[in-house]
Amino acid sequence: MEFEAVIGLEIHIQLQTRSKAFSSDSTEYGAMPNTQVSPISLGHPGTLPKHNIQAIEKAVKMGLALDCSITEVNRYARKNYFYADLPKGYQITQFDTPLCVGGHVPIKPKDGEPKQVRLIRIHMEEDTGKSMHDQDLYDTLVDYNRAGTPLIEVVSEPDIRTGEEAYAFVTEIRRLVRYLDICDGNMEEGSLRCDANISIRPKGQKEFGTKVEVKNMNSISNVKRAIDFEIERQKECILSGQAIIQETRGFNGLNGSTFSMRKKESNNDYRYFPEPDLPPVLMTQSEVERIRQEMPELPGALFKRFTNDYGLSEYDASVLIDDKHSAFYFEAVCRQQNNYKAVANWVTVPVRGYLNEQALGMEDFPLPAESLAELIALVDEGIISHSIASQKLFPALLKNPKASARGLVESLNLATNTDSSEIEGIVKDVLAQFPDKVQAYQSGKTGLMGLFVGEVMKRSGGKADPKITNQLLQKALQSL
Ligand code: ADP
Ligand code: MG
Repeated sequence: MEFEAVIGLEIHIQLQTRSKAFSSDSTEYGAMPNTQVSPISLGHPGTLPKHNIQAIEKAVKMGLALDCSITEVNRYARKNYFYADLPKGYQITQFDTPLCVGGHVPIKPKDGEPKQVRLIRIHMEEDTGKSMHDQDLYDTLVDYNRAGTPLIEVVSEPDIRTGEEAYAFVTEIRRLVRYLDICDGNMEEGSLRCDANISIRPKGQKEFGTKVEVKNMNSISNVKRAIDFEIERQKECILSGQAIIQETRGFNGLNGSTFSMRKKESNNDYRYFPEPDLPPVLMTQSEVERIRQEMPELPGALFKRFTNDYGLSEYDASVLIDDKHSAFYFEAVCRQQNNYKAVANWVTVPVRGYLNEQALGMEDFPLPAESLAELIALVDEGIISHSIASQKLFPALLKNPKASARGLVESLNLATNTDSSEIEGIVKDVLAQFPDKVQAYQSGKTGLMGLFVGEVMKRSGGKADPKITNQLLQKALQSL
């Protein structure tokens, strides 16, 4: 029997605001436990929550980026349940009027067809506190600093079919929240969290099977691992005649397996009811348009422009738009330099290499766009060779980012040597050193030219003009 997986993702995204969703408590990460907890966060009797408009505006940006329709009258609701990390005994969320409805996420899975994953909704809610199981030998401790941090929950339709597609989906969501500056997208620290709903059905069957929800994946690759494991587990269950139980399962990153945590609650267990202490939030059309104006250009639009306006390959364009700082830096260099292909190569290879080596992000890249533009111009003008540019000038600029590229070429004496008589001397030395190779060349092994050129380059410190070198070598070899 052949099976097909059906997957829907729920992604919780902490919104980067200075204060919490309904109080002025700080949301700063990493503070001493329970120091960012006013009576509002703790839900003491008589306290009143108040909307954080900044958080709502960030959520609207996400909705606009994903082509959702934005709800005009936003009501809030209480979701009631009892758990130690929920100090109020209920979570403020949205129930029947999610801020964003519909929309879709374009994904390009590895080795798969690009597709659109539809969204059900994006709604506002608040985070819970955090249980800490590893701080005390006997007890679980609770840190309420996180309680009340603004969140959005992005809920997809069950349109995803493989772990690889889920990987692409979360990657795209993370890229967008970073573009929009609404969240750092850090799954290890939990500012972006993904729950996966997974079921399987016989291929060709229309109805969905019973779904299982898997939690606690702290990286995108673990989302994929958890899904791949769960699909196999469910297959084995069904093939051995067992039924799938609707439940919540946890993910064990050490061995990549999932384990049962609890039977799934249903919505009426939560006794949702309208939040009486918060007025509805009005998100008018004009307000939405004002927020749209504050959004940066998004990866989809950048990809089109980079391939159309700059003639980049799809591969180069997709590497550049991976993060917005690279994309914007590329454009900044292109404003001063129209060898776009060279700019793309420099930004995607040596610049990236440097950043990876230093464990830096593109936003920390020290070289001004002007300097890289100038370096590329120096190569294009034939003043320095490409290898001198990448092996000498680029590292020198990185050590001294304020220096001018042209100035360094001068002070470090990097300019290409076009002095024929000097190069001729080196050519003679090289040919004298390899008499057997010269003979081989003359009896037809013309491929040896590369070796001679390489030797001349080595001896000239990479500075001999390649064209002159070639001409002089040809001449010398003919007259020998
Ligand atoms: P619940 O009420 O259990 O939370 P929802 O209808 O709200 O379920 O859906 C939650 C998530 O589960 C959504 O992302 C949805 O796409 C996904 N989902 C729903 N049914 C299935 C199914 N049979 N298999 C896999 N995912 C599903
Ligand atoms: Mg749900």
